[in-house]
Amino acid sequence: MFCPFCGADDTKVIDSRLVADGGQVRRRRECVNCRERFTTYEAAELVLPRVIKQDGSREPFDEEKLRSGLQRALEKRPVAVEAVESELGQIKNRLRATGEREIDSRAVGELVMEALKRLDQVAYVRFASVYRSFEDLSEFRDAIASLEADPQG
Ligand SMILES: [Zn+2]
Repeated sequence: MFCPFCGADDTKVIDSRLVADGGQVRRRRECVNCRERFTTYEAAELVLPRVIKQDGSREPFDEEKLRSGLQRALEKRPVAVEAVESELGQIKNRLRATGEREIDSRAVGELVMEALKRLDQVAYVRFASVYRSFEDLSEFRDAIASLEADPQG
């Protein structure tokens, strides 16, 4: 990176150590040109990607929305709150691990389905039938639209 003092593009690392329980690397750097010293921190990108909705609009990842969606699917099912929270945490980790800034809402839906499958088969089937039939419906609509556009085909 460029020296923040003189703008030279040649700096050397004079010290490097793990900080924040190993979650970050702190580096002391020295500019080869002006000899000024400065510190940089390197950390994994922990920001959750924005969600691309079906209409193409983007919205921030909403943990509360995901939680209430899972709870709705699990209504009256014998599933512990801790188990739901654990799956929620795993979904967030998977999303962070993609390193993407934006992610398709369907990809989030697939992660939710996987989580429900592990939590409770009945809730999974309940959610999957709604989710999948919605997908089928739009496919059905697309098929009708293409027939209307090209009646000979
Ligand atoms: Zn410099």
